[in-house]
Amino acid sequence: MKDELVKALALDGHVRIYIARTTNMVQEARDRFDMGPVATDALGRVLSVASIMGGMLKSDKEMLTISINGHGPIGSITVDAYSNGNVRGFVSNPHVDAKNVGEAVGTDGTLTVIKDLNMAENFTGTVELQSGEIGSDFTYYFTLSEQTPSAVSVGVAFDSTGTVEGAGALVLQMMPDATDTDIRIVEHVIEGLKPMSTIIKEYGDTDMSQLAHDLFDDAKVLETSDIHYSCPCSKERTRNILMTLSKDELQKMIDEDEGCEVTCNFCNEHYTFTKDELKEILEDMNA
Ligand SMILES: [Zn+2]
Repeated sequence: MKDELVKALALDGHVRIYIARTTNMVQEARDRFDMGPVATDALGRVLSVASIMGGMLKSDKEMLTISINGHGPIGSITVDAYSNGNVRGFVSNPHVDAKNVGEAVGTDGTLTVIKDLNMAENFTGTVELQSGEIGSDFTYYFTLSEQTPSAVSVGVAFDSTGTVEGAGALVLQMMPDATDTDIRIVEHVIEGLKPMSTIIKEYGDTDMSQLAHDLFDDAKVLETSDIHYSCPCSKERTRNILMTLSKDELQKMIDEDEGCEVTCNFCNEHYTFTKDELKEILEDMNA
């Protein structure tokens, strides 16, 4: 079963439905950073909501960055989302020891979203963390910062070996023309909702668009698209970063370290440069 994002409308277009199945990307994040279960759960929740927010962007030139820091033992959580369905992210402490996500993240801090909309200025929205559980924090963010009353359900489930068994997110957003009846229906749907990780497990190989139909009789699916954990870093890009170092620094790495290894924060990919490769970079800089 592959990760996917479903966009749908219901209640005569008065409510927008976003559903993300993210089991594979959360497992990939876990593998890349060798994360413990609580860190995987926390980052997985943010990656899942980020996948949906990437899908809310209007053009392929736009992207957004989510930063969460509640001064809990996990440190900060940073996630990038792109409109093409790619997301990437990391936490400061991948081996955090905490009872649950709320305790790991903490509540003494903020959730910030910076949207690069390819315009002169970025859009920035910041809200105080509510519970550190991520779902309610994004509910608060959408409602307060984007002025869109929303409900967010997100979760990650593990099997007994610690493998990610089901991960996903659901966002319901009320449109400005929603009536009181629409709001009551949505509240009723939310009250009856199982945890998102349970829903993802129960749907198994079923297309996630089925969930939209199961939630609302008149659901109309607009689009289903692929989402992935993906980082645009490469050896070539890393080489370009090395080109921005001073010649003295490079010379020092050649003389003292016999080469260097650069690790990408966002995906933990390692790029090694031999002494000869560093010499080449230095020559290019001198040229
Ligand atoms: Zn990377």
